[in-house]
Formats: sequence, structure tokens, C-alpha cells
Amino acid sequence: MTMIDRRTLLGASGAALLLARTGLAGAQVVGESRQVVVIGGGIIGAVIAYHLAKSGAKVTVLEKEKPAAGATEKSFAWLNAGSKRPRPYHMLNLLGIMGWHRLQAELGTDVLPMQWGGCVDWTAGEDAAKMREAIARQQAWGYPVRAIGAAEITRLLPGVTPGPVDFASFAEAEGTVDPVLATRVLFDAAKRYGAKIEFPVSVTGFDQAGGQVKRVLTDKGPIACDNVALAAGLACEPLAAMLGAKVPVITSTGVLAHTEVKPMALPRLAFGPGANIKQNPEGSFVTGSSFGGTPDVKATRETGEALLAFARKYVPAIGEAKLSDVTLGHRVLPKDSYPIVGALPSCGNVYVAAMHSGMSQGPLIGQLAAVEILGGPKADLLDTFRPDRFA
Ligand SMILES: Cc1cc2nc3c(=O)[nH]c(=O)nc-3n(C[C@H](O)[C@H](O)[C@H](O)COP(=O)(O)OP(=O)(O)OC[C@H]3O[C@@H](n4cnc5c(N)ncnc54)[C@H](O)[C@@H]3O)c2cc1C
Repeated sequence: MTMIDRRTLLGASGAALLLARTGLAGAQVVGESRQVVVIGGGIIGAVIAYHLAKSGAKVTVLEKEKPAAGATEKSFAWLNAGSKRPRPYHMLNLLGIMGWHRLQAELGTDVLPMQWGGCVDWTAGEDAAKMREAIARQQAWGYPVRAIGAAEITRLLPGVTPGPVDFASFAEAEGTVDPVLATRVLFDAAKRYGAKIEFPVSVTGFDQAGGQVKRVLTDKGPIACDNVALAAGLACEPLAAMLGAKVPVITSTGVLAHTEVKPMALPRLAFGPGANIKQNPEGSFVTGSSFGGTPDVKATRETGEALLAFARKYVPAIGEAKLSDVTLGHRVLPKDSYPIVGALPSCGNVYVAAMHSGMSQGPLIGQLAAVEILGGPKADLLDTFRPDRFA
């Protein structure tokens, strides 16, 4: 036997052994023959399309407006897992953060710039006890977060003026990305693997036979498919209903103020009482007042100026930066607050992915969805997040 034969054989048997040990033997995760239609051009459609195309599937993305036009464009895009409970949901977010590092390594930090400086969060008054308790719980789960003093706030965020501080924390693994840029970068990468990104194309229905979707119907005509990935944000509910499945989602609104691009001054996220502030990697400041719903807040210029004035109190470096945009986003909130991910019980070749915190979880969801759609093993991480819990 030659050296090459020997090495090839050893390699093949080693790989077979590894597959057998990991329980993946026989898994079909190469997608050359699959025609997959992805409905929705937000961050979730983008990560799923990228991972599918990379695995060899023939991918067509259908987006009714333009890439990132939905919740994604209006997202604060804080990549975090700390406050997420229970543990399985925390893990989806934590592995999502890790997934962003993988994507940056694959695509290049120059192509996909991100800010990985962590998040400094401080409070005063009665919220301090709650924050202290939350941080202790996160530490017990192994999350890289620690209590810090007021002096460390200004060391981590030079120039920031936090005001009174009764408790503060630093979550070192957290970061942020520009959600629109990330979506574009992922679609560009998917295109290099042969994916087609079609917009504006609106999905209007489905042709079914034998419990499977055979064609996706659109305002521009039908498209044949082997599989469908339903990543249409709030439209997942009505589209799934056409297939006899329940994907209950509600919404809440969130307003953010954005500035023009300025030199980098904020090396990490800065969260003080009443203001969440970040600077995107390309230099624009973004600020909002709450991660909960703010139904009474309108996306007016006055609101934007008020948000910016408040943020300036903490981050004087915002200075004279001009307001460039005020956005009103509609969150995609599954009815029970947890992601809805997996094949529809009523239609096995349609895979839904609807969630809040999709910026944090996106890379993991894209990776797992592509494997499952292409017939690979089911990820037990997703066991409690399947759509059949609403059946
Ligand atoms: C104000 C705000 C702040 C947020 N902050 C954070 C945060 O800090 N961290 C975090 O992790 N997450 C955050 N989120 C949540 C996160 O942004 C979302 O979970 C994520 O963007 C959802 O992405 P998606 O692709 O599922 O949905 P979307 O971005 O809504 O994309 C769905 C797409 O489907 C398209 N579509 C709909 N119907 C059809 C049809 N019939 N045919 C074709 N296309 C269709 C839409 O046009 C849209 O582009 C925030 C969201 C908001 C609104």
C-alpha cells in the first residue's frame, strides 16, 4: 500500500469513526440537489440563506420590499444572552454570539466589522438590587459578566459621565453589529455560493400536494421548490396559516435615534438609567430608551432629538453629531416569548424561524436550520422551541 492510499484510508476511517461517535453517520447535510426557497430578506432569512447556499443548496430568497426592510433595519442589534431565561433560551443566545465570531472569521473582519467591547450597564436607586441579583444568576450560569465600581465605568468608557451609580456590571462577551450591513454581507456571501436574492417579490400562497409545498406562489409567478424556509418575521403567522399551521406572533414598537457618522468614541455599549447607547462600527451613534415596548412614543424628529439629548448627558462625545434618522421598529414576538423554529407539523418541507432577539441568535439559527432543512440531524438545542407546541 502506498503512503497516499494509507493516509486516505486512515482519514476515511477516522472520519467514519467520528461520524459514528457523534451519531451523525448517514446524515444528509450536503444540499446539491435541493431547491430551497427562503421567504423573507431580514437577518434570519440572510443567515439561513447563507448556510444553505454554503452547503450546496440552490437557494432563492424572496423579499417583498428590500433586504432588512422589516424588524432588522430598526434593530438596536445588541448581541447578548445575559438576561435570557430559562437556560435553553440563554444557550441559543450565547451560541448565537459565538456564531457571530465564526461568521467574522469566515467572511473577514473588514467585510463584517463588529464591535466586541462588551456592555457596561449601570443603575441607581431601587433597580440596583434587581440588577445585582440578575448578575449573580448569570455568573452562576458561567456567563462572563461581573460587578464593577463607578471608577471602572469611566476606565472602560473614557469620557462617559454616568451620574449616580448604585450598581454597575460589565458583560465582556457582548457586542454589536450594524444590522443592515450584516444582512447585506450575508446575502453577498450567499450569492457567491450561487444564491439568488429576489426583491421586490411578495409571496402570496403555496401549491401543495401530499402534505408538501411544491411551488411557492408570488406576485411575479410561481417558483418550484423542494423545501421552504419561512423567515418572514411578523408575516410568518399568516403565511403558516395558509398551510394549516399556527405560528402565533405579536408585536411591540421601539423607537431609535441615529446620528451621522462620527469618529469612534464609544468602545463598548453604554447602558445608563433611561438610555441605551452604542456606536456602530462605522461610527454612527444609536440610542433608545427601553428594550420593552414603547407604544406611546412616535418616531418624530422631536423624539429623536430628545433621545439624543438624553444620551448626550452620559456620552458627551456625541457632541454636535446631527440626528440622521429616527426609526420605529416592530418587534417579532412569539406569543410565549420564545423562538419558533422547525418544520411545520402540517407541512414537513416548510421550516419556520420566527423570533425576537434574532440579531443575537441569528448565526446559530442559520447554522442549525440549514442542517435540519437538508435532512441532517435534529438539534436537541431546539427541542423546546418547535412549532408543534402551538398545534
Ligand atoms: C426596535 C427593535 C430593537 C431590537 N433590538 C434588538 C437587540 O438589541 N438585540 C437583538 O438580538 N434583537 C433585537 N431586536 C430583534 C431583532 O431585530 C429581530 O428579532 C430580527 O431582526 C428579526 O429578523 P427576521 O429576519 O426574523 O424578521 P424581519 O427583519 O422582519 O424580516 C422579515 C422579512 O420578511 C419580508 N416579508 C414579509 N412578508 C413577506 C412576503 N409575503 N413575501 C416576501 N417577503 C416577505 C419582510 O419585508 C421582511 O424584510 C430588535 C427589534 C426591534 C424592532
